[in-house]
Amino acid sequence: MNKSQIIDKAEDNLFHVYNRFPVVFDYGKGVYLYDESDNKYLDFASGIGVMALGYGNETYENALIAQVKRITHTSNLYYQMPMIEAAEKLVNASGMDKVFFTNSGAEAIEGALKTAKKYAYTKRGAGEYEVIAMENSFHGRTVGSLSVTGTDHYREPFYPLMSGVRFATFNDFGSILANLTDNTCAIILETVQGEGGLYPADKEFLTKVRELCNEQDILLILDEVQCGMGRTGSMYAFQQYGIKPDILTTAKALGNGVPVGAFAVTNNVAENSLVPGDHGTTYGGNPLCTAAVSQVFDIFEDCKIIDHVKAITPYFEQVLDQLVEKYDFITCRRGMGLMQGLVLTIPVKEVVTKALMEQQLVVLSAGTDVLRLLPPLVITEANIDEFKRKIEEVFDTFL
Ligand SMILES: *Cc1c(COP(=O)(O)O)cnc(C)c1O
Repeated sequence: MNKSQIIDKAEDNLFHVYNRFPVVFDYGKGVYLYDESDNKYLDFASGIGVMALGYGNETYENALIAQVKRITHTSNLYYQMPMIEAAEKLVNASGMDKVFFTNSGAEAIEGALKTAKKYAYTKRGAGEYEVIAMENSFHGRTVGSLSVTGTDHYREPFYPLMSGVRFATFNDFGSILANLTDNTCAIILETVQGEGGLYPADKEFLTKVRELCNEQDILLILDEVQCGMGRTGSMYAFQQYGIKPDILTTAKALGNGVPVGAFAVTNNVAENSLVPGDHGTTYGGNPLCTAAVSQVFDIFEDCKIIDHVKAITPYFEQVLDQLVEKYDFITCRRGMGLMQGLVLTIPVKEVVTKALMEQQLVVLSAGTDVLRLLPPLVITEANIDEFKRKIEEVFDTFL
Protein backbone atom coordinates (compact mmCIF):
# COMPACT_ATOMS: atom_id res chain seq x y z
CA MET A 1 0.00 0.00 0.00
CA ASN A 2 1.25 3.48 -0.79
CA LYS A 3 0.79 6.39 1.57
CA SER A 4 -2.46 7.71 0.12
CA GLN A 5 -3.99 4.21 0.13
CA ILE A 6 -3.02 3.84 3.80
CA ILE A 7 -4.62 7.17 4.66
CA ASP A 8 -7.78 6.31 2.68
CA LYS A 9 -8.09 3.02 4.54
CA ALA A 10 -7.65 4.85 7.84
CA GLU A 11 -10.40 7.35 7.03
CA ASP A 12 -12.68 4.55 5.79
CA ASN A 13 -12.46 2.73 9.10
CA LEU A 14 -11.47 5.09 11.90
CA PHE A 15 -13.98 7.38 13.58
CA HIS A 16 -12.81 10.81 12.45
CA VAL A 17 -12.12 12.25 15.90
CA TYR A 18 -8.59 13.44 15.06
CA ASN A 19 -7.39 15.59 12.18
CA ARG A 20 -4.20 13.66 11.60
CA PHE A 21 -1.18 14.99 9.76
CA PRO A 22 -0.66 13.09 6.47
CA VAL A 23 2.32 11.17 7.82
CA VAL A 24 2.51 7.42 8.48
CA PHE A 25 5.14 6.54 11.06
CA ASP A 26 6.57 3.07 10.85
CA TYR A 27 9.41 2.77 13.35
CA GLY A 28 11.75 4.73 15.58
CA LYS A 29 15.39 4.73 16.61
CA GLY A 30 16.80 6.93 19.34
CA VAL A 31 15.30 10.40 18.89
CA TYR A 32 14.29 9.78 15.26
CA LEU A 33 11.07 8.54 13.71
CA TYR A 34 10.87 6.93 10.24
CA ASP A 35 7.85 6.98 7.95
CA GLU A 36 6.59 4.27 5.56
CA SER A 37 9.10 5.40 2.90
CA ASP A 38 12.01 5.46 5.37
CA ASN A 39 12.16 9.27 5.62
CA LYS A 40 13.79 10.33 8.89
CA TYR A 41 12.19 12.82 11.31
CA LEU A 42 13.74 14.48 14.35
CA ASP A 43 11.31 14.00 17.22
CA PHE A 44 10.86 16.91 19.65
CA ALA A 45 7.40 15.74 20.70
CA SER A 46 7.99 12.22 22.10
CA GLY A 47 4.47 11.10 21.20
CA ILE A 48 3.20 13.91 23.50
CA GLY A 49 5.75 13.48 26.25
CA VAL A 50 5.58 9.69 26.40
CA MET A 51 8.80 8.41 24.82
CA ALA A 52 11.15 9.82 27.45
CA LEU A 53 13.82 7.20 26.65
CA GLY A 54 13.44 7.63 22.92
CA TYR A 55 12.79 4.72 20.56
CA GLY A 56 14.38 1.30 20.47
CA ASN A 57 15.99 1.20 23.91
CA GLU A 58 17.22 -2.39 23.94
CA THR A 59 17.13 -2.97 27.69
CA TYR A 60 13.53 -1.77 27.78
CA GLU A 61 12.52 -3.84 24.76
CA ASN A 62 14.09 -7.01 26.15
CA ALA A 63 12.28 -6.58 29.46
CA LEU A 64 8.97 -6.28 27.61
CA ILE A 65 9.67 -9.25 25.35
CA ALA A 66 10.54 -11.39 28.37
CA GLN A 67 7.32 -10.30 30.10
CA VAL A 68 5.19 -11.02 27.01
CA LYS A 69 6.53 -14.57 27.01
CA ARG A 70 5.85 -15.01 30.75
CA ILE A 71 2.40 -13.47 31.27
CA THR A 72 0.64 -10.26 30.18
CA HIS A 73 -2.53 -10.21 32.27
CA THR A 74 -3.83 -11.63 35.53
CA SER A 75 -6.50 -9.09 36.72
CA ASN A 76 -6.29 -7.29 40.02
CA LEU A 77 -7.76 -10.22 41.96
CA TYR A 78 -4.30 -11.75 42.40
CA TYR A 79 -0.76 -10.64 43.23
CA GLN A 80 1.93 -10.44 40.54
CA MET A 81 5.56 -9.38 40.84
CA PRO A 82 5.85 -6.73 38.07
CA MET A 83 3.14 -4.57 39.70
CA ILE A 84 4.64 -4.96 43.17
CA GLU A 85 8.11 -3.98 41.94
CA ALA A 86 6.80 -1.06 39.90
CA ALA A 87 4.81 0.22 42.89
CA GLU A 88 7.86 0.07 45.15
CA LYS A 89 9.93 1.99 42.60
CA LEU A 90 7.22 4.63 42.13
CA VAL A 91 6.92 5.04 45.91
CA ASN A 92 10.69 5.51 46.22
CA ALA A 93 10.90 7.93 43.31
CA SER A 94 7.94 10.09 44.35
CA GLY A 95 7.99 10.00 48.15
CA MET A 96 4.31 9.04 48.09
CA ASP A 97 3.18 6.01 50.13
CA LYS A 98 0.64 3.92 48.18
CA VAL A 99 0.03 3.41 44.47
CA PHE A 100 -2.94 2.45 42.25
CA PHE A 101 -2.12 1.71 38.61
CA THR A 102 -4.43 2.82 35.79
CA ASN A 103 -4.48 2.56 31.99
CA SER A 104 -4.16 6.27 31.24
CA GLY A 105 -3.70 9.74 32.63
CA ALA A 106 -7.41 10.49 32.60
CA GLU A 107 -8.10 7.36 34.63
CA ALA A 108 -5.49 8.43 37.16
CA ILE A 109 -7.42 11.72 37.50
CA GLU A 110 -10.69 9.81 37.91
CA GLY A 111 -9.14 7.78 40.70
CA ALA A 112 -7.71 10.89 42.36
CA LEU A 113 -11.11 12.63 42.30
CA LYS A 114 -12.91 9.59 43.74
CA THR A 115 -10.22 9.27 46.43
CA ALA A 116 -10.63 12.94 47.42
CA LYS A 117 -14.41 12.63 47.60
CA LYS A 118 -14.20 9.46 49.67
CA TYR A 119 -11.66 11.11 52.00
CA ALA A 120 -14.12 13.94 52.72
CA TYR A 121 -16.97 11.44 53.11
CA THR A 122 -14.91 9.41 55.59
CA LYS A 123 -13.72 12.39 57.61
CA ARG A 124 -16.75 14.70 57.42
CA GLY A 125 -19.70 12.43 56.54
CA ALA A 126 -21.97 12.45 53.50
CA GLY A 127 -22.03 15.80 51.70
CA GLU A 128 -21.92 17.67 48.42
CA TYR A 129 -18.16 18.01 48.19
CA GLU A 130 -16.51 20.41 45.80
CA VAL A 131 -13.23 20.56 43.94
CA ILE A 132 -11.29 23.68 43.01
CA ALA A 133 -9.61 23.30 39.62
CA MET A 134 -7.67 25.81 37.51
CA GLU A 135 -8.65 27.82 34.48
CA ASN A 136 -6.53 26.88 31.46
CA SER A 137 -5.86 23.42 32.91
CA PHE A 138 -5.94 20.05 31.17
CA HIS A 139 -6.67 16.79 32.96
CA GLY A 140 -8.08 14.50 30.27
CA ARG A 141 -11.15 13.65 28.16
CA THR A 142 -13.24 11.33 30.35
CA VAL A 143 -16.28 12.95 31.97
CA GLY A 144 -14.66 13.27 35.40
CA SER A 145 -11.33 14.57 34.14
CA LEU A 146 -13.10 16.90 31.67
CA SER A 147 -15.08 18.30 34.60
CA VAL A 148 -11.87 19.67 36.12
CA THR A 149 -10.40 20.75 32.77
CA GLY A 150 -10.58 24.54 32.45
CA THR A 151 -10.94 24.90 28.69
CA ASP A 152 -14.50 25.73 27.60
CA HIS A 153 -14.42 24.40 24.06
CA TYR A 154 -13.44 20.91 25.29
CA ARG A 155 -16.31 20.97 27.79
CA GLU A 156 -19.33 22.68 26.30
CA PRO A 157 -20.76 19.90 24.08
CA PHE A 158 -20.81 17.52 27.03
CA TYR A 159 -22.74 19.45 29.68
CA PRO A 160 -23.82 18.68 32.30
CA LEU A 161 -20.47 17.45 33.59
CA MET A 162 -19.62 16.45 37.16
CA SER A 163 -21.07 19.09 39.48
CA GLY A 164 -19.27 20.85 42.31
CA VAL A 165 -16.24 22.09 40.37
CA ARG A 166 -15.13 25.70 40.76
CA PHE A 167 -12.42 27.23 38.58
CA ALA A 168 -9.75 29.46 40.04
CA THR A 169 -6.99 31.38 38.28
CA PHE A 170 -3.68 29.51 38.17
CA ASN A 171 -0.94 31.22 40.21
CA ASP A 172 -3.49 33.52 41.89
CA PHE A 173 -3.92 32.53 45.52
CA GLY A 174 -6.65 35.14 46.07
CA SER A 175 -8.71 33.40 43.42
CA ILE A 176 -8.34 30.09 45.30
CA LEU A 177 -9.62 31.76 48.47
CA ALA A 178 -12.52 33.28 46.53
CA ASN A 179 -13.60 29.80 45.43
CA LEU A 180 -13.13 28.11 48.79
CA THR A 181 -16.30 26.90 50.55
CA ASP A 182 -17.06 24.69 53.56
CA ASN A 183 -17.55 21.86 51.06
CA THR A 184 -14.18 22.10 49.30
CA CYS A 185 -12.53 18.68 49.50
CA ALA A 186 -9.68 19.04 47.02
CA ILE A 187 -7.63 21.45 44.93
CA ILE A 188 -6.33 20.00 41.68
CA LEU A 189 -3.63 21.56 39.53
CA GLU A 190 -0.77 20.72 37.20
CA THR A 191 2.60 21.59 38.75
CA VAL A 192 3.49 22.80 35.26
CA GLN A 193 0.49 23.40 33.00
CA GLY A 194 1.14 21.54 29.75
CA GLU A 195 -1.67 21.76 27.19
CA GLY A 196 -2.62 25.18 28.55
CA GLY A 197 0.68 26.68 27.40
CA LEU A 198 3.68 25.62 29.56
CA TYR A 199 3.02 27.63 32.72
CA PRO A 200 5.01 26.48 35.78
CA ALA A 201 3.35 27.05 39.16
CA ASP A 202 4.89 29.91 41.17
CA LYS A 203 6.68 28.70 44.27
CA GLU A 204 4.86 31.13 46.54
CA PHE A 205 1.48 30.15 45.09
CA LEU A 206 2.07 26.43 45.53
CA THR A 207 3.42 26.93 49.07
CA LYS A 208 0.31 28.89 50.05
CA VAL A 209 -2.03 26.34 48.47
CA ARG A 210 -0.23 23.60 50.43
CA GLU A 211 -0.59 25.56 53.70
CA LEU A 212 -4.28 26.20 53.03
CA CYS A 213 -4.85 22.49 52.36
CA ASN A 214 -3.08 21.60 55.62
CA GLU A 215 -5.14 24.09 57.63
CA GLN A 216 -8.49 22.97 56.20
CA ASP A 217 -7.78 19.25 55.70
CA ILE A 218 -8.31 19.69 51.95
CA LEU A 219 -6.41 17.34 49.63
CA LEU A 220 -3.90 18.76 47.19
CA ILE A 221 -3.94 16.78 43.95
CA LEU A 222 -0.93 17.47 41.73
CA ASP A 223 -1.39 16.28 38.16
CA GLU A 224 2.08 15.40 36.87
CA VAL A 225 0.87 13.27 33.98
CA GLN A 226 2.86 15.49 31.60
CA CYS A 227 5.45 17.26 33.77
CA GLY A 228 6.43 14.20 35.82
CA MET A 229 8.99 11.46 35.13
CA GLY A 230 12.08 13.60 34.98
CA ARG A 231 10.90 16.05 32.35
CA THR A 232 11.49 19.17 34.43
CA GLY A 233 14.81 18.04 35.91
CA SER A 234 13.50 16.16 38.95
CA MET A 235 11.56 12.90 38.95
CA TYR A 236 8.44 14.91 39.83
CA ALA A 237 8.26 18.68 39.37
CA PHE A 238 6.84 19.23 42.88
CA GLN A 239 10.16 18.00 44.28
CA GLN A 240 11.65 21.36 43.22
CA TYR A 241 9.06 23.26 45.29
CA GLY A 242 9.73 21.85 48.77
CA ILE A 243 6.14 20.62 49.09
CA LYS A 244 4.35 17.31 48.58
CA PRO A 245 0.84 16.58 47.28
CA ASP A 246 -1.68 14.35 49.05
CA ILE A 247 -2.45 12.71 45.73
CA LEU A 248 -0.11 12.57 42.73
CA THR A 249 -1.17 11.56 39.24
CA THR A 250 1.39 10.30 36.75
CA ALA A 251 1.22 8.67 33.29
CA LYS A 252 2.61 9.62 29.85
CA ALA A 253 6.34 8.78 30.25
CA LEU A 254 5.69 6.35 33.12
CA GLY A 255 5.65 3.36 30.77
CA ASN A 256 7.64 4.85 27.87
CA GLY A 257 4.99 3.81 25.37
CA VAL A 258 2.80 1.17 27.00
CA PRO A 259 -0.56 2.50 28.21
CA VAL A 260 -0.14 2.97 31.94
CA GLY A 261 -0.78 5.63 34.55
CA ALA A 262 -1.05 5.75 38.30
CA PHE A 263 -2.28 7.78 41.20
CA ALA A 264 -0.28 7.70 44.38
CA VAL A 265 -1.40 8.83 47.83
CA THR A 266 0.01 9.51 51.28
CA ASN A 267 -0.64 7.08 54.15
CA ASN A 268 -3.12 9.56 55.64
CA VAL A 269 -5.16 9.52 52.42
CA ALA A 270 -4.86 5.75 52.02
CA GLU A 271 -6.13 5.18 55.56
CA ASN A 272 -9.12 7.52 55.21
CA SER A 273 -10.47 7.00 51.69
CA LEU A 274 -10.90 4.11 49.27
CA VAL A 275 -11.47 0.63 50.68
CA PRO A 276 -11.96 -2.66 48.80
CA GLY A 277 -15.08 -2.36 46.66
CA ASP A 278 -14.79 1.41 46.10
CA HIS A 279 -12.69 1.37 42.96
CA GLY A 280 -11.23 -0.99 40.38
CA THR A 281 -9.89 -1.68 36.91
CA THR A 282 -9.61 -4.86 34.85
CA TYR A 283 -6.38 -4.09 33.00
CA GLY A 284 -4.85 -1.41 35.22
CA GLY A 285 -1.28 -2.27 36.18
CA ASN A 286 -1.20 -5.54 34.27
CA PRO A 287 2.14 -7.39 34.29
CA LEU A 288 3.13 -6.19 30.81
CA CYS A 289 2.58 -2.51 31.60
CA THR A 290 4.09 -2.63 35.07
CA ALA A 291 7.13 -4.56 33.82
CA ALA A 292 7.62 -1.57 31.52
CA VAL A 293 7.22 0.89 34.42
CA SER A 294 9.70 -1.04 36.50
CA GLN A 295 12.21 -1.09 33.65
CA VAL A 296 11.72 2.65 33.03
CA PHE A 297 12.64 3.41 36.66
CA ASP A 298 15.70 1.12 36.40
CA ILE A 299 16.88 2.84 33.22
CA PHE A 300 16.34 6.27 34.78
CA GLU A 301 18.67 5.21 37.58
CA ASP A 302 21.25 3.25 35.56
CA CYS A 303 21.54 5.89 32.82
CA LYS A 304 21.25 8.88 35.21
CA ILE A 305 18.45 10.33 33.05
CA ILE A 306 17.58 13.12 35.49
CA ASP A 307 21.21 14.25 35.75
CA HIS A 308 21.24 14.37 31.95
CA VAL A 309 18.08 16.49 31.87
CA LYS A 310 19.61 18.90 34.37
CA ALA A 311 22.86 19.05 32.39
CA ILE A 312 21.29 19.57 28.95
CA THR A 313 18.52 22.02 29.96
CA PRO A 314 20.69 25.19 30.06
CA TYR A 315 21.86 24.51 26.48
CA PHE A 316 18.28 23.96 25.28
CA GLU A 317 17.15 27.15 27.03
CA GLN A 318 20.04 29.08 25.54
CA VAL A 319 19.18 27.96 21.99
CA LEU A 320 15.50 28.80 22.52
CA ASP A 321 16.42 32.21 23.95
CA GLN A 322 18.53 32.85 20.85
CA LEU A 323 15.43 32.16 18.75
CA VAL A 324 13.42 34.61 20.89
CA GLU A 325 16.11 37.22 20.23
CA LYS A 326 16.27 36.51 16.51
CA TYR A 327 12.58 36.48 15.54
CA ASP A 328 10.20 39.34 16.38
CA PHE A 329 7.21 37.00 16.19
CA ILE A 330 8.45 34.97 19.16
CA THR A 331 7.23 36.78 22.26
CA CYS A 332 8.96 34.69 24.92
CA ARG A 333 10.10 31.28 26.12
CA ARG A 334 8.30 29.52 28.96
CA GLY A 335 8.66 26.18 30.74
CA MET A 336 10.85 24.02 32.90
CA GLY A 337 13.57 21.54 31.96
CA LEU A 338 12.81 19.70 28.73
CA MET A 339 9.22 20.97 28.77
CA GLN A 340 9.50 24.27 26.93
CA GLY A 341 7.28 26.55 24.89
CA LEU A 342 7.82 29.45 22.53
CA VAL A 343 4.98 31.96 22.49
CA LEU A 344 4.29 33.01 18.89
CA THR A 345 2.36 35.77 17.18
CA ILE A 346 2.36 33.78 13.90
CA PRO A 347 -0.11 30.86 13.53
CA VAL A 348 1.36 28.00 15.57
CA LYS A 349 -0.58 25.32 13.63
CA GLU A 350 1.19 26.44 10.43
CA VAL A 351 4.57 26.29 12.15
CA VAL A 352 3.90 22.75 13.42
CA THR A 353 2.69 21.62 9.97
CA LYS A 354 5.60 23.16 8.09
CA ALA A 355 8.10 21.73 10.56
CA LEU A 356 6.69 18.25 10.08
CA MET A 357 6.03 18.27 6.32
CA GLU A 358 8.93 20.41 5.09
CA GLN A 359 11.68 19.93 7.69
CA GLN A 360 10.88 16.45 9.06
CA LEU A 361 10.84 17.95 12.55
CA VAL A 362 8.11 16.77 14.91
CA VAL A 363 6.89 19.47 17.33
CA LEU A 364 3.63 20.23 19.15
CA SER A 365 1.40 23.17 19.92
CA ALA A 366 -0.21 24.12 23.22
CA GLY A 367 -3.00 26.56 23.92
CA THR A 368 -3.64 28.85 20.97
CA ASP A 369 -0.23 30.39 20.48
CA VAL A 370 2.51 28.22 21.97
CA LEU A 371 4.97 26.01 20.11
CA ARG A 372 5.45 23.16 22.59
CA LEU A 373 8.66 21.14 22.76
CA LEU A 374 8.79 17.84 24.63
CA PRO A 375 11.88 16.07 23.25
CA PRO A 376 12.92 12.64 24.49
CA LEU A 377 14.91 13.14 27.70
CA VAL A 378 17.95 11.51 26.06
CA ILE A 379 18.56 14.29 23.49
CA THR A 380 22.11 15.54 22.96
CA GLU A 381 23.49 18.99 22.14
CA ALA A 382 23.87 17.82 18.52
CA ASN A 383 20.12 17.01 18.44
CA ILE A 384 19.36 20.49 19.78
CA ASP A 385 21.60 22.05 17.09
CA GLU A 386 19.75 20.04 14.45
CA PHE A 387 16.43 21.19 15.91
CA LYS A 388 17.63 24.80 15.72
CA ARG A 389 18.63 24.50 12.05
CA LYS A 390 15.29 22.96 11.12
CA ILE A 391 13.08 25.34 13.08
CA GLU A 392 15.02 28.34 11.72
CA GLU A 393 14.21 27.12 8.20
CA VAL A 394 10.54 27.12 9.19
CA PHE A 395 10.62 30.48 10.95
CA ASP A 396 12.47 32.08 8.00
CA THR A 397 9.43 31.39 5.79
CA PHE A 398 7.40 33.73 8.04
CA LEU A 399 9.81 36.69 7.70
C1 LIG B 1 -2.20 14.05 28.83
C2 LIG B 1 -2.67 14.56 30.14
C3 LIG B 1 -3.73 13.94 30.84
C4 LIG B 1 -4.57 12.85 30.24
O1 LIG B 1 -3.84 11.69 29.99
P1 LIG B 1 -4.43 10.57 28.98
O2 LIG B 1 -3.45 9.44 29.12
O3 LIG B 1 -4.49 11.17 27.63
O4 LIG B 1 -5.79 10.20 29.49
C5 LIG B 1 -4.02 14.40 32.10
N1 LIG B 1 -3.34 15.41 32.66
C6 LIG B 1 -2.32 16.03 32.03
C7 LIG B 1 -1.58 17.11 32.72
C8 LIG B 1 -1.97 15.63 30.75
O5 LIG B 1 -0.97 16.26 30.10
